[in-house]
Formats: sequence, structure tokens, C-alpha cells
Amino acid sequence: MQKKLLGLMVGIALSGASAAHAVGVTDAMIEKNSTDSVLSWGMGQDGQRFSKLTQINTKTVDKLTPAWSFSFGGEKQRGQESQPLIHEGKMFVTGSYSRIYALDLKTGAKLWKYEHRLPDGIMPCCDVVNRGAALYDNLVIFGTLDAQLVALDQNTGKVVWKEKIGDYAAGYSMTAAPLIAKGLLLTGNSGGEFGIVGRVEARNPRTGELVWTRPMVEGHMGYKFDKDGKEIENGISGTTNKTWPGDLWKTGGAATWLGGTYDASTGLAYFGTGNPAPWNSHLRPGDNLYSASTVALDVATGQIKWSYQTTPHDGWDYDGVNEFVTFDMDGKRFGGKADRNGFFYVVDAKNGKLQNAFPFAKKITWATGIDIKTGRPILNPAGRPGDPTKGEDGKKGATVFAAPGFLGAKNQMPMAYNPQTKLFYVPANEWGMDIWNEPVSYKKGAAYLGAGFTIKPNFDDYIGAMRAIDPKTGKIVWEIKNNAPLWGGVMTTAGGLVFYGTPEGFLKAVDAKSGKELWKFQTGSGVVAPPVTWQEGDTQYVAVVSGWGGAVPLWGGEVAKKVNYLEQGGSVWVFKLHTK
Ligand code: CA
Repeated sequence: MQKKLLGLMVGIALSGASAAHAVGVTDAMIEKNSTDSVLSWGMGQDGQRFSKLTQINTKTVDKLTPAWSFSFGGEKQRGQESQPLIHEGKMFVTGSYSRIYALDLKTGAKLWKYEHRLPDGIMPCCDVVNRGAALYDNLVIFGTLDAQLVALDQNTGKVVWKEKIGDYAAGYSMTAAPLIAKGLLLTGNSGGEFGIVGRVEARNPRTGELVWTRPMVEGHMGYKFDKDGKEIENGISGTTNKTWPGDLWKTGGAATWLGGTYDASTGLAYFGTGNPAPWNSHLRPGDNLYSASTVALDVATGQIKWSYQTTPHDGWDYDGVNEFVTFDMDGKRFGGKADRNGFFYVVDAKNGKLQNAFPFAKKITWATGIDIKTGRPILNPAGRPGDPTKGEDGKKGATVFAAPGFLGAKNQMPMAYNPQTKLFYVPANEWGMDIWNEPVSYKKGAAYLGAGFTIKPNFDDYIGAMRAIDPKTGKIVWEIKNNAPLWGGVMTTAGGLVFYGTPEGFLKAVDAKSGKELWKFQTGSGVVAPPVTWQEGDTQYVAVVSGWGGAVPLWGGEVAKKVNYLEQGGSVWVFKLHTK
């Protein structure tokens, strides 16, 4: 009843808005992905982060200068992983602690701010981050650390609807940007370290009403909802107990915490899933579907069309959440994925068949390669941390060194694909960990790991490496080493450029073909967010959020100590070419 009433009110608000204001964001606009706006996370639903703009190019980029900067203010200066959105003269940018701002694109002046009231006891595993919002009609929609979705009026910042996506007291939260596909709002959820159940859900973006929900752990029922919100069973995900023993699937993790991408040519949405819970793999024999996988979903029905598991029976926290970026190769549509486990996968976007897989990290100890025929990793038996029940006192299993460390050869920072160079640009990290397993049992709202660990650098001179990767040959065409671990995303342009940020505070532009550094700017704090670009009138702009934080300072062990000189922050920078 309440939902119906809210829907009616939204209907009135929308008709009022369309009369009073200019263009609301439509599905056609999102699919068209024109260069005068940035309407989705990934700079397009396919997540390529490629712009056709050329005003800023290899010859002109040295004249790139700040147009304006805006501070997120307050004392909440940490963990800014957000990608701004651009529409109709406004920037919409989220900040840490579930904040969102609308800024005037010309001046950087604040138009409005929304600060979500967070309860005590939220449980973000990996800092108080947010990665961005979605735009639909006159709404801007984002997820919060207490597991809610909030839709605000783009012009006023007033809340139009709010919906709970999970119980924050059980460890649910939301940090990813929502995805709009075929008129639906698609979201995942965070909380894989607390024994939550990862899901993908579709809602009516105008009202927040649920359309379907699809759990990512085998054995759980999916549901669709009729127009009165009544739930109707929509098929079990997988086959109960097929790849999960006993009851552990009930709290099986597989958080969809980085959100998804969509490809209009296949009609499928692609969501990555996190680690199976708990980390101690000896408690859950089997492959543990659909954890550590890419899952392709039919957007209209929420049915799983295919899944491809990159780390079956994960024992290292190799979340398979990384973005599945679709692209053309030899006249066919594929998806590229740089997995946390150190391997880069090229997969048929239509049917999930593995085409190619190769390492993009220098040091990988858990597997020696990927069998292209079966799609399965060739495991190194000595690479798995030992079973605690076989340890001396039954409390601690044998410690092993594993690379990559659980923070991954790549983590949340999104890569980019350039259809002109036909290369992926991947922010990679070289680190490992000492890891051991311990006994653990599920307790609501408590960390559910059964593991201890210390992250360590693999090499003395660098951890981060910005790598240009050929998906066809698996070759690293060029790389730029970076002292601190890379934690920001990448953008590439038809101007022959690759843009990326560093924890040391620089936004850099390099030649997409050679990796030669052409420009850099010190933003005042670490960059752990992906840049964007757009054109307004005859001017091309570039923007990036700055503000060190995220998982590295919290979980990085020896690496965290190495980079503890880095200062936190919270601001957004906008650049354009200097003209007289
Ligand atoms: Ca995880």
C-alpha cells in the first residue's frame, strides 16, 4: 500500500519535473553514450571507459590546466573512489560516508548536497567508500553504507524514494554504482566478509520497486515481484548442494560488490561475484558456485544465462568481482576481465566460453596457468593454506606464501579498453601474502573469515604497474611501474591518451601506444578513483576525484606501513586546455 502511494507520488513529481525542466535521462541516451555527457559508471554500459574526444590529445595534453576544484568538506576526508557523472550542466559526484553532491559544471559551485544519515554499527569491510551513482529520468540514484538505495531529484537534491537492499546489522552494505539497463536499475551488494548472500536485483528506477532478485549462491531461491510487490518464486539458483556441502551455502558470500556492466548486443548484464564464505576453504569442499565468477544475467527475467568461475573453490579471497568489459575482436563480441587472481580472461560475451587466459601479474603462486579447454586453473597444490584440523593444535593450519595477495593483482580500480589501439589498460599490483586458516563458525554481524594474513610487496622498487595488454596475444605491450599500489581507475581516449591516478596524488596522461608520460598534475591527496571526460560547447574537460583511502591502508600489512606517509583528502578536480 505504502509502495503504491509512493509510486503515485513519484509519477506526479516526474510529470511536474518533465514540464519544468529540460531533458530527463532516457535508456536511449544511456545506450547512445554521447560525448557531451557521462551518464553511467564505466563511461558507457560496456565499461570500456573510452572516449571518442580528441581535443585533448598527445600533442595538446601538456596544456591541460585546472578549471576548478571542489572540496567535499567536513572531517570525512578519506577513501574517495567515486566516478563523477555529467548531465545537463551538472556534475553528480559521491563522496565517502554516503554523501553526494551536485555541482555547477561551469563554476564548480555547489548546487546541493545530500548526506545520508548513517546508523552506528555499519560494517564496511574496506573503508567508507562509494564508487558513484546512476542517472535515470530526473533522478540520481546511489547506494549507501547501511545498505539502502537513495534516489534524489537531480535539480533539488530532495529524496524521491529510498529502499533497503539488506540488513546492515548482518553485514550488508552498498558501495558500487548502480547500473541502468533496459529501463531497470540493476544493483549488487557488499558484505562478503560477513557471510551475507550476494545478489543481483532489478528495480523500477522511477519508484525503487523490486522487479526481480537473483541470489549468486547455489541453493538460494530467486524471486520476481508482481505490481503489488507480491513475491513469486523465480527458480533456485543452481542445484542445492551440487557444489556446496552441508549448510554452508546458506551464508555463502559471493558478494556482487563492484556492480555490473551491460552489453546491448547480447542483452546480458555481467556481474562479478566475490569470495565464497568463509575464507577457510577446507570447511566447504566443492567449486562453491557462483562465487568468484562472472555471471551473465538476462535483464528482463533475472535468469542466469551463463557463468564462468575464475577461481573454483577459492581459498585466497580472490573475489571475481572485476568488471567484465565487452569489446569486439575478430568480428565477435567478447568480454575482458583482469581478475583479482592474477589472470586476464577473454570470454565469449554471448555464451561464456573461454577464448584466452594469461597472467597479467608477474608473480602468481596459486596456479601455474589456465586450461583453455576446461576453463579451469591448473592448481599448485602447495599454494593453498593448510587445514587447521590437521595442524598441530587444531587451531591453525600451515601458513603458505600466496601471490597475488588477497588485495589482488587488480582490485576495485576499473581498467579501460581502447578500440583504436585494441589494448586493455590495466592498473595492476605486485604483492603477495602469508596466509593461514583457522576454525570459524558463522555469527550474524561478525567477520566470517577463518583466516589470518599479512600482505607483503613482491619487489623492492614497485608495487603498482600500469600495463597495456593485448587480449589476443596476452602480451604486456608496455608498463609503467609505480612505487605505491595503484588503486584508481583508468580512462583512454581517441586523442591517443591513457589517464590514470596514483596514490602519490598525481593524475597522469600517457601515450596509449607507447606508455610515454606526457602530463601530470598533483591533486593534493592520493587518487583512488577513475577519471572521466566530456565536451561542453567547444571545450573538452577531464575530471577526477582525489582522496587517499580504501582497502590498502586498512588491510595492507607491510604495504600499508610502507605507504603510511600518504595523506587523506576529499575533492574533485576538473581540467581543460589552457587558452588565451
Ligand atoms: Ca572478499
